Amino acid sequence: MIPYGRQDITQADIDAVVSVLRSDFLTQGPMVPRFERAVADHVGAAHAVAVNSATSALHIACLALGLGAGDWLWTTPTTFVASANCGLYCGAQVDFVDIDSRTYNMCPRALRAKLEVAAREGRLPKIVVPVHLCGQPCDMAAIHALAVEFGFKIIEDASHAIGGRYRGEYVGNCRHSDVTVFSFHPVKIVTTAEGGLATTNDADVARRMELFRSHGITRDPLQMTHAPDGPWYYQQVELGYNYRMTEIQAALGVSQMDRLDEYVAQRHALARRYDTLLASLPVITPWQHPDGYSGLHLYVIRVPSGGNGLSHAAVFEALRAGGIGVNLHYIPVHTQPYYQAMGFAPGDFPEAERYYEEAISLPMYATLTETEQDKVVETLANAVRH
Ligand SMILES: *Cc1c(COP(=O)(O)O)cnc(C)c1O
Repeated sequence: MIPYGRQDITQADIDAVVSVLRSDFLTQGPMVPRFERAVADHVGAAHAVAVNSATSALHIACLALGLGAGDWLWTTPTTFVASANCGLYCGAQVDFVDIDSRTYNMCPRALRAKLEVAAREGRLPKIVVPVHLCGQPCDMAAIHALAVEFGFKIIEDASHAIGGRYRGEYVGNCRHSDVTVFSFHPVKIVTTAEGGLATTNDADVARRMELFRSHGITRDPLQMTHAPDGPWYYQQVELGYNYRMTEIQAALGVSQMDRLDEYVAQRHALARRYDTLLASLPVITPWQHPDGYSGLHLYVIRVPSGGNGLSHAAVFEALRAGGIGVNLHYIPVHTQPYYQAMGFAPGDFPEAERYYEEAISLPMYATLTETEQDKVVETLANAVRH
């Protein structure tokens, strides 16, 4: 089976991990700060806070921005459930904004329309979470302008987008947001096995995310309610969690970051090749907005229903049967049973639902060979021309 995504582990990665295993610190040592610095410097952000997953990073970002009961968090329905669940973890309510039909990202026009209604009804969101689907940056200038006008905070879910750029600058520099979150799951662009990280330019938000990462405990006398009792002293000043990244993971991350730009360039070469090879097939290839340079975590095609070819589901099944590990990103979050029980229903976000009826993620990862890619295209061609 050719998977839709997979990690690339080199001898340098293995050496980096082994050297941590032989060192004094398996956790809470020097590698996590080094990884944080490597990512912050690469993307051009002032601060980075590494944690054990992007899900944890979304959670502590929401907490650091003050999300709580009575607040609203809005995101896109076309995302992994974690982009929405982080709001529920904080006791807030979650709502969605439909996607743009070309980029599949949160539509700024739909966002404005929904904000105008919410302003009249007195239920504006505290946080909006745009997701850079497939690695293609959202229209951040437009979303940021709405944040200024309507007074909400922005967390970019850039789980697909590390190494991508928006208007020439790396995703994660937070020029148009409060916090940006990355994922280092093995299917993503660079990996730490499990892992996530949040960048920000706000020192206070960074400090609060560090607190929530580790039990809400501080050893900094400036953050304590009174002078330390002694050198052993620490205080718990918030209710935090254990979301720490290990030294082993951070060492793998530091080593992988060396190859980030190379990985993204390889993904772009593969995407251009797919674009050419698929041009004559009755499928829609990904449209790229000129403002963005995608991280290209995913290469999603759409198989329009109707016509005389196989249905979307049949094409999907034919690919799987042919040894191509395709996937579907994503089932609209509002149609998940957990969200339907909160009152959402099919029909609420039609563009996201139409996308779901047609989307297929083809294999896309840095080490995918041209021979493998040819097999994907051939299997797809046979399926759609059936
Ligand atoms: C993978 C992913 C996450 C969650 O990442 P983890 O590191 O697995 O917690 C969140 N949002 C999106 C869009 C993702 O693709």
